[in-house]
Amino acid sequence: MYSTKLFKTIVTSILLIIALVGCSSKENSSDKKESTKEVNVYTARHYESDNEVFKKFSEKTGIKVNVVKGNAEELIERLKREGQSTKADLFITVDGGVLANAKNNEVLQELTSDTINKNVPKNLRDRDNQWVGLATRARVIVYAKDRVKPEQLSTYEDLTSDKWKGKVLVRSSSNLYNQSLLASFIELNGVEEAEKWSAGMVKNFARQPDGNDRDQAKAVVAGTGDVGIMNTYYIGLLANSKVQEEVDVANKIGVFFPNQDTNGAHVNISGIGLTKHSKNKENAIELIEYMTSVEAQEYISKTNFEFPVNPEAKKAELLQSWGDFKMQELNFDTLGEHNAKAIELFNKTGWK
Ligand code: FE
Repeated sequence: MYSTKLFKTIVTSILLIIALVGCSSKENSSDKKESTKEVNVYTARHYESDNEVFKKFSEKTGIKVNVVKGNAEELIERLKREGQSTKADLFITVDGGVLANAKNNEVLQELTSDTINKNVPKNLRDRDNQWVGLATRARVIVYAKDRVKPEQLSTYEDLTSDKWKGKVLVRSSSNLYNQSLLASFIELNGVEEAEKWSAGMVKNFARQPDGNDRDQAKAVVAGTGDVGIMNTYYIGLLANSKVQEEVDVANKIGVFFPNQDTNGAHVNISGIGLTKHSKNKENAIELIEYMTSVEAQEYISKTNFEFPVNPEAKKAELLQSWGDFKMQELNFDTLGEHNAKAIELFNKTGWK
């Protein structure tokens, strides 16, 4: 009797163990299945347009996009620190210099896809295929329409002439957009000319640099100065703002693409790269293919007012209204190469 009871207990225990093992192995296999249907993105672009594009991609493919947002330098450091154990499959950032920085820190890998190569022209991709352009923006001159005629404007260099004394508005030199602008001048015109430009701008400042790009447009309209430097997509964001005062600011400023008879307007790029230790490579490449597709590119242009990298994609109407323009021709890597020198020149010339 005693032994029958023991036998029953043993049988029950064995059955229970089998059931538990069965359950957990089933859970494991469904886990695995799910992990092949996701892609992990580290991004330094914090735009609503990108979130929507990720959502559209998930709806189309069933691949979940997990997003970690952060500052570009911190994300690159994190990728280095995490090494092989990183969850990240993709790295997204603004600025060609930062993309070059990610590449030089060896956190990316070469990626190949005929679709991507078809979507994005060669000059908007890394020469070693370590990153692909997602969108571009120009850094242009804006002016008070009631006080300035576009015929009075010509080049970035002309903003340093006496006629603009006390009338020029631009944000601080700690900002990457300005650092890359000066880096482009170092590349195209040499260190000496770049330094002269920075000194000439400081001499003509309407005030000590204050606020972001949008604040320069607001100060132009308020009469603090007559001309300002800002990125094109902010003009679109102002024009489509929910705040009426911002819409008014957009209506009162003119947009001027400088250096059309010389080196062209300064353009910077946002890009995406496959991380060195990506575990979901196929999904990651599929997401890049989608982000560079006509559909996603038109969506980004329409909502974030950037220029598409895919030449088949239509620009936002506002951008079309500005017409075509000549852009600087330089390798985006050089923006990173000259970054330290640009900061040095800003400091030397007193651009705060
Ligand atoms: Fe920005």
